[in-house]
Amino acid sequence: MSLEEIKELMIELNEPAFRAKQLFEWVHKKGIESIEDISNFSKELKEKIAQNAKITCLNLKTKQVSEDGTIKYLFALEDNNYIECVLMRYRGTKSKKRNTLCVSSQVGCAMGCGFCATGLGGFKRNLTAGEILSQIYTVNNYLKIENDDLMVGNIVYMGMGEPLLNFENVLKSIRLLNELLGQNISIRRITISTCGIVPKIVDLADLNLDIVLAVSLHAPTDQLRSQIMPVNQQYPLKVLKEACIYYVKKTRRRLTFEYALVNNFNDTKEHAYVLADYLKDIFSHINLIPVNPTVTEKFQRPQRVKIQDFLEVLTSSGIEASIREERGTDIAAACGQLRGKVVE
Ligand code: SF4
Repeated sequence: MSLEEIKELMIELNEPAFRAKQLFEWVHKKGIESIEDISNFSKELKEKIAQNAKITCLNLKTKQVSEDGTIKYLFALEDNNYIECVLMRYRGTKSKKRNTLCVSSQVGCAMGCGFCATGLGGFKRNLTAGEILSQIYTVNNYLKIENDDLMVGNIVYMGMGEPLLNFENVLKSIRLLNELLGQNISIRRITISTCGIVPKIVDLADLNLDIVLAVSLHAPTDQLRSQIMPVNQQYPLKVLKEACIYYVKKTRRRLTFEYALVNNFNDTKEHAYVLADYLKDIFSHINLIPVNPTVTEKFQRPQRVKIQDFLEVLTSSGIEASIREERGTDIAAACGQLRGKVVE
């Protein structure tokens, strides 16, 4: 519930306005898992609140811990659907110290990207804003138990699901994360990753938020992209490019592109030249991600030398590009893989 919704509830319950702020803090800052946990409300007030509202809870089914500290959680929702989220702990001098959480926005996904374990299982339903936020609050509670000196400070909507197809709930969760009385996470520390839902990219541009938008490209031609991303048939590269240019013009923010490098599919120097030509008019940075083999092991990552050659073509063509630091590869941290194993 937003602060406004909680205020309305308190008016209905004939409670003073300051109770709304207190309740908001208990839920969105302290991340309580039950109304019972509120220590400064009377038993009667807690009962009244419980009759009108409830706190969304996630049930941890399993987790995997990578050698690099990345943790992948599999949660059961109240209706026994499963979702995943991944905690990436960046430490040391090379990358700034931070905890980043990759969250899910849907149960399953309808987009059917060929390299993605979530896409293989199809779409079930959208997550509520509360279910999205619970992933962050629950992981923060684990970090508190471990006495980690950092809470989750960066969020990426890059887990299960296409966030722009759950637009309202994703936006509601982002606004709540940004609330001063709640987590107070800057919008600039939040990334939405999309496979390229063109009308929603335009809608997001019109909102002019300081959000980071990451677009999954994964191939430089329509012929190749349609093979692994069915969305390309509806929104081909030319249309996607127009939306990306519109986004940059409206928000004045640099776009991020994601490009999963797949051995003998999209990883030659010729592909890199075509990609450079596509990107040259868009204010952007492209992350090259050597693909994480899915449960089907259909896609393999290219050899290191090919990845470096690909990067070299892009940078020498004036494109801002880098190879994404790989996290959690030993625990198959790409989205949908853990759920895939458990559901099977
Ligand atoms: S990569 Fe993202 S958009 Fe594509 S199927 Fe997987 S979850 Fe859906």
